Amino acid sequence: MQSPSLQSWREEEYQPPPRSILYSLDPISQQGLGAESLRSYFIRLCRAHGVTPRRMVREVLASGAPGFRSYAGSRFLATGAMTINGLGSVAEAFAARLEALCARRDLTPLTLNPWAVLLPSNSAGAVYRKPRWCPLCIAEGRKTEAEIHQPLVWSMAVVAVCPVHHTPLEHSCGSCGRRQPALPRIPDLGRCAHCGEWLDRSHTAKPGNASDVQRWVAAASVEMTLAGFPVPGIQPLSRFRTLLLKAIDTYAGGVRAHFCRQIGLSPWALTKWLGEGRRPSLPQLLHVAYALDFQPAALFRLPSGQTPDFNIRALPGKLFHRAPKPLLSPDDVRRLKLSLQAAGEQGLTVSSICRQESLKRSAIKYWLPEECAHTSKLAKVAAESASKRSRSEKEDLAHAAFKQIAGEGAYPSRRRMEDKLKQSGTSLLNGVAREAYAQDRALLIGDCDVSMANVNLDQK
Ligand SMILES: [Zn+2]
Ligand SMILES: [Zn+2]
Repeated sequence: MQSPSLQSWREEEYQPPPRSILYSLDPISQQGLGAESLRSYFIRLCRAHGVTPRRMVREVLASGAPGFRSYAGSRFLATGAMTINGLGSVAEAFAARLEALCARRDLTPLTLNPWAVLLPSNSAGAVYRKPRWCPLCIAEGRKTEAEIHQPLVWSMAVVAVCPVHHTPLEHSCGSCGRRQPALPRIPDLGRCAHCGEWLDRSHTAKPGNASDVQRWVAAASVEMTLAGFPVPGIQPLSRFRTLLLKAIDTYAGGVRAHFCRQIGLSPWALTKWLGEGRRPSLPQLLHVAYALDFQPAALFRLPSGQTPDFNIRALPGKLFHRAPKPLLSPDDVRRLKLSLQAAGEQGLTVSSICRQESLKRSAIKYWLPEECAHTSKLAKVAAESASKRSRSEKEDLAHAAFKQIAGEGAYPSRRRMEDKLKQSGTSLLNGVAREAYAQDRALLIGDCDVSMANVNLDQK
């Protein structure tokens, strides 16, 4: 007899779930650590498919989205890929591409991009420049044989300690002392990319080794990674401004300068946020949230028309220390601006100016962010057109070599092609030349087949 569930089965009614190109891996969210980071998700996805991150970017993400080819370069894989977790266009591009390939809609909250409605896309303190991890969390993952992942909160530069163990986050291997690439060649989040040892070793990790402020920042940041998208109709930025105005009225009788002194804020900050429509950076948002004792995530979660409850409290000194700004005289900045403009016109990169001026990229970016972005854009366009030119040159050389050999009455074999191409400084090892050769050969063989068919017909 058929079971009741099978009796109701209708084959024509069955709708198979949509197929995804890549395995639709579930993101990991762990108690106390919050959401997984998109970088961690991507590395686990590469592991599930048994391919290196570079190959995944070049051959899967870039197929159908050629813009991704630029993310397969060594510099991006080593450090740039940390921005996959952050605010801005790289995080947006990776989340959208992976959502399309994995047939999911829940990957953007693995980045800080839901916070782009409140924070500027170049916010300080958003993404640490190298991977960091908690050795104790990795040791626990090993013990329970859980799949090792890295939560988004570990990559936030404002967070100094693990939100669960309150130990400082590590950024170099406890065995060989080396830092880890953003996207390692072997997709393994638990082991060192250089010596292969587990990343659970540390000389400093002792639970409970953190100040109250560090613990609060870590916990508030975890909540931020779990906030998801703001509810439609809620504008966290205007809610932040309303909260500030209420606090100024409540604690400083409406006098902004007095309020700034009370919570240790620069007097210019309020003018920028309330008068000029500027957004607070992540450290500034956390500073205000700590001083007024509210959770930043509440700016997303509360129903429309409500602002979080607040309560002023004393700050234990400065919450975050900014790196000292690189010192350059106004004349230096003017000269640098001209160099950047000239470089842009010649299609040169910002890195070439860094080398020429013996300055770090961050210093140039600090003083001239717009000019820097413009020069990078022009350099990218120049590099793309140079690559196009070189491709078409290689293609022409291969066609010409093929024609010449065939014209001499010989069969254009691989060996003859290689000999000919060697004279013009290329080889069939080059993909474009190889493709052109394959096309010509297919045409030649096709012609031979047609002429053989004509001979057969004539014979009949
Ligand atoms: Zn931990
Ligand atoms: Zn190591």
